[in-house]
Amino acid sequence: MLLLENVPLAPLTTLRVGGPARYFAEPRTSPEVANAVDFARSRNLPLFVLGGGSNLVVSDAGWPGLVLRVAIGGIEERSEAGKAVFEAGAGEPWDRLVARAVSRSCAGVECLSGIPGSVGGTPVQNVGAYGQEVAETIAGVQALDLKDGQVRELCNEACEFSYRTSIFNTRERGRYIILRVTYTLTPGGAARVEYADLKKHFVGWAQQPTLAEAREAVRQVRASKAMLIVAEDEDCRSAGSFFKNPVLSSPEYEELTRRAGARGLQVPSYPALEANRKVSAAWLVEHSGFSKGYRYHNVGISRKHALALVNRGGATAAEIVELKDQIQQRVEEIFGVRLQTEPVFVGFEAEGETVQR
Ligand SMILES: Cc1cc2nc3c(=O)[nH]c(=O)nc-3n(C[C@H](O)[C@H](O)[C@H](O)COP(=O)(O)OP(=O)(O)OC[C@H]3O[C@@H](n4cnc5c(N)ncnc54)[C@H](O)[C@@H]3O)c2cc1C
Repeated sequence: MLLLENVPLAPLTTLRVGGPARYFAEPRTSPEVANAVDFARSRNLPLFVLGGGSNLVVSDAGWPGLVLRVAIGGIEERSEAGKAVFEAGAGEPWDRLVARAVSRSCAGVECLSGIPGSVGGTPVQNVGAYGQEVAETIAGVQALDLKDGQVRELCNEACEFSYRTSIFNTRERGRYIILRVTYTLTPGGAARVEYADLKKHFVGWAQQPTLAEAREAVRQVRASKAMLIVAEDEDCRSAGSFFKNPVLSSPEYEELTRRAGARGLQVPSYPALEANRKVSAAWLVEHSGFSKGYRYHNVGISRKHALALVNRGGATAAEIVELKDQIQQRVEEIFGVRLQTEPVFVGFEAEGETVQR
């Protein structure tokens, strides 16, 4: 395994900002991952695990230690108790697995097509879109436990999946390096067409769409919102949704509706969000003076999606953080809601230490 020095990280992320990694390795097997970890430990270097770089803001200073981009590949398929089991290396591009599953007529991930990044990144924030999330199909995660150097098999329950969270980005952040993920899919299952955007796409269809048709519809809807990466489209130069939909308590929701009412606004209701007491972060952002296409120096808000902060060319991480701060502050002033960020911040200072958070 090659160990590189001073490798620029911006080109390895979808937002394309940030400085270099002091050291960089791309392990292709589990023993190579363990070797890279030993190298970092022997030099007391902080370790950051990189996937497809689609959910990151890397600081302008970069990462002072070792960045390890897990490149374990391969997708194995088998049948177990009437289910289709897909086991994939963490370094496989996520959409390759979705395409393979759909081509085998296996249901369960068709609505997650077009989410950029790696297989290994999917359990971390329990990726979800258009009414599906990976927690529904992940049977297990194989991971190197940095506590004791053992390779562990974590079952679905052990991952403690919830909305955009798992143990990997909450209480056990930084403990595991994900090596492989196993998904259990339903052969011959029906496509899930529950989200309004998808239903709209299929209005007037006499028959239930196939998995391939549902996947294609998802990709078209995503493309219309610049949520499908297209190389030449600068509205795609983002980290996806920058803010999570806030989950409010009843008193918080009442306060929000009171503040909105005072401005002559009605908080929109979306059945999919309401079921989880979530409020649309996009609505809050847009009604706080940050409309689609908003520009601040070299960064801005996507022209097609109010939640995507974009690099309009030559941006710095500092500019992204400034715009994020402005949005959070303004939304809080107006609506009393503090928006939480979705991407991982890499190489920013916290309590005197350079960390990911
Ligand atoms: C245009 C666009 C659209 C998006 N749409 C969606 C969407 O619809 N739904 C959604 O949920 N997300 C979405 N995202 C966010 C992102 O694509 C997902 O979170 C994705 O799963 C991140 O995977 P990654 O491999 O790129 O991880 P990275 O961004 O490289 O890393 C993210 C985090 O995961 C950790 N990580 C990655 N790989 C491993 C590993 N092997 N072991 C341990 N930790 C690891 C990293 O350390 C980091 O903490 C979107 C992003 C973009 C740019």
